[in-house]
Amino acid sequence: MTLTVKPRITKKTIQSVNVLTFDIERIPGHAKIKHRGLTIEGEFWDLGGWKHTIGRRIHADDVVSWPRTICAAGRWYGQSKVMFAAEWQEGGHEQFMRTMWEWFDSAALIIGHNAAAFDVKHVRSGWAEYGWVQPSPWAVVDTLKVARSELNFESNTLDALAKRLGVSAKTDKYSADVAQAAVNGDEKAQRKIARYNEGDIRATEAVYDRLRPFIKNHPHLSMHNGEIWGCPNCGNPDVSTNRKGDAYTHVQRYAAYQCDNCGHWIRSTKKLQDATHTRTYR
Ligand SMILES: [Zn+2]
Repeated sequence: MTLTVKPRITKKTIQSVNVLTFDIERIPGHAKIKHRGLTIEGEFWDLGGWKHTIGRRIHADDVVSWPRTICAAGRWYGQSKVMFAAEWQEGGHEQFMRTMWEWFDSAALIIGHNAAAFDVKHVRSGWAEYGWVQPSPWAVVDTLKVARSELNFESNTLDALAKRLGVSAKTDKYSADVAQAAVNGDEKAQRKIARYNEGDIRATEAVYDRLRPFIKNHPHLSMHNGEIWGCPNCGNPDVSTNRKGDAYTHVQRYAAYQCDNCGHWIRSTKKLQDATHTRTYR
């Protein structure tokens, strides 16, 4: 077989569902402890972060300020504008958390790099701190999880993946100093972290597009556009015209199809054959 499918998917195919590419930036916390008669003070991301210095975890009571989410960027799939929200904008941290809540409430699907374990849980924690309920349900496609489970690149950072897949790479690196300056009101630092945050959105969406044909159990996009023969991974409305032989499980045979938009393989739900009536002799 020759490789004839297009390597990139056509964006307009998933317009009927609100897909949000999403990424947050955080600032480290601050702790102050007494250790062997000395006062040690500094930044931390997690309470085990000073173990090599103090030989134990930081106690919650030693925390002066916790790490927190300070800004976020998002883009609706198919649109060109990247949205940005931050705690230094009007309304402060609470309005910032509310803006993210509204984005999630409108989203059916969240795309993010490490979104499942990191971004989504952090923003949910933020909403819980304000005593809010959750936005309407969404599904997550985590590009880091996909890269780890389906591919075997030596580095799965967003930047490394974007470069190896040949898509637009990020333009900057996260710096805790820049994040601190931004929350202190430095407008140049605020612009810098916004650019970085928005760059991550472009890179994440581009990586997602390239990984999409490899994604197993992608939330079925045809559930949103109502097409019964649609591609689960890209929403291409009709894959039934592209029959490509049969698909086999251990004891069953189905019709196989390949999406001619994104290249993903699909099998029919209707069985062509069931081999469970014959058994290997033991
Ligand atoms: Zn497809």
